[in-house]
Amino acid sequence: MPTNATHAPGLRSWVQGANAPGCDFPIQNLPHGVFSPPGGAPRGGVAIGDQVLDVAAALAAGKLKGAAAEAAAEPSLNRLMAMGRDAAAELRAALSALLAEGAEPLPQLLHAQSAVTMHLPTEVRNFSDFMASRPHCARLGVKRDPANPLPPAFHHLPVAYHSRASSVRPSGAPLRRPWGQYPKDGAVVFAPTEAMDFELELAIWIAGENALGEPTPISLADRRLFGFGLLNDWSVRDVQRYEMPPLGPFLGKSVMTAVSPWVVTAEALEPFLLPQPARQAGDPPCPPHLATTRPDALNLQLRAAILTPRLRAAGAAPHTVTDTPFAGMSWTAAQMVAHHTSNGCNLLPGDLLGSGTVSGPEDGQEACIAELLLRGPIAFPNGETRRFLEDGDEVIFTGTASAPGFTTIGFGECRGEVLPAHASVT
Ligand code: CA
Repeated sequence: MPTNATHAPGLRSWVQGANAPGCDFPIQNLPHGVFSPPGGAPRGGVAIGDQVLDVAAALAAGKLKGAAAEAAAEPSLNRLMAMGRDAAAELRAALSALLAEGAEPLPQLLHAQSAVTMHLPTEVRNFSDFMASRPHCARLGVKRDPANPLPPAFHHLPVAYHSRASSVRPSGAPLRRPWGQYPKDGAVVFAPTEAMDFELELAIWIAGENALGEPTPISLADRRLFGFGLLNDWSVRDVQRYEMPPLGPFLGKSVMTAVSPWVVTAEALEPFLLPQPARQAGDPPCPPHLATTRPDALNLQLRAAILTPRLRAAGAAPHTVTDTPFAGMSWTAAQMVAHHTSNGCNLLPGDLLGSGTVSGPEDGQEACIAELLLRGPIAFPNGETRRFLEDGDEVIFTGTASAPGFTTIGFGECRGEVLPAHASVT
């Protein structure tokens, strides 16, 4: 789908905050989410500048109409995602017209983002997490096998596992440091983890549904991408390393997964699509059922920062530890959908995929602490150092999409603080 009037870089909104330089939510973005105003029930909204458009209020006022707007007003976006990308694109055009400069200002339909509570955008029924960054796999696999650090299947399919849907939470949810089993001092202990990590990933929200037994071919897989956000795949490294062989991650990953609350639609990201990076010399060819010439890679820049209790007390800014491009990932979101459904597995509307840790090849592009530590402890500007996360540390993800000639749009934040472990788990 080509770009259209909703992407025009000159477009401005009567919501003044949306026109501020560097704003994540200019009128070219229009992401969907679910929010509660003070004292009110959860409902669908659209971020515009520093405000939220109350979609139900816009419907009640006769300013929006139609089935997609009604679905976008509900307290979960599963039904909107079930309607698919064409419906979302039509709604986007109506939202753009409603909020554009020159239209009647309707401040009574807005709530300040600072005053509302954000919720999960969907009732997440399934969550699968992928592994698609070559540098991530290479850095972490080199200890296991220096000659062959990548998993054997890495070039043939986007490797993934089924993760836990019940413990997905919106940005802001704190993470209680978990207890778990891991080797320490020659024994296997059950104790609070000493290796609490984050993984900076892209959240992928699924549109539509394929019947069980009916794959979504790569030619149609991009139509299954409703939108995107930021995802923190909280990872308990000591527990994960011990429990993985041979069935894969379990308690090391199910502890919690956080997502940014705003779903930036695939339509909003049309200007930021790029051709997939070429395979490296010596890599096997892409299997035909995952191959496409469509530009499916996304030109995003994702960042992770850590705010320690001492930085917070001093009023200092969070310290950026990761600043990494997404476009170099070895597999695209569309390829993940085609692979996920290639055996006939049904992906449901509102299902969540994680892109896998978005690590780039350069220093500073390591998108989890396990990788950052390969260059030594993380050093903070105030002299503090970290191996893994300590209690009170807050991890903050941000991200932007940019391209020459288009307005940069952002994802908002995915943030969460590590709380102390329970005193005992008996
Ligand atoms: Ca992960």
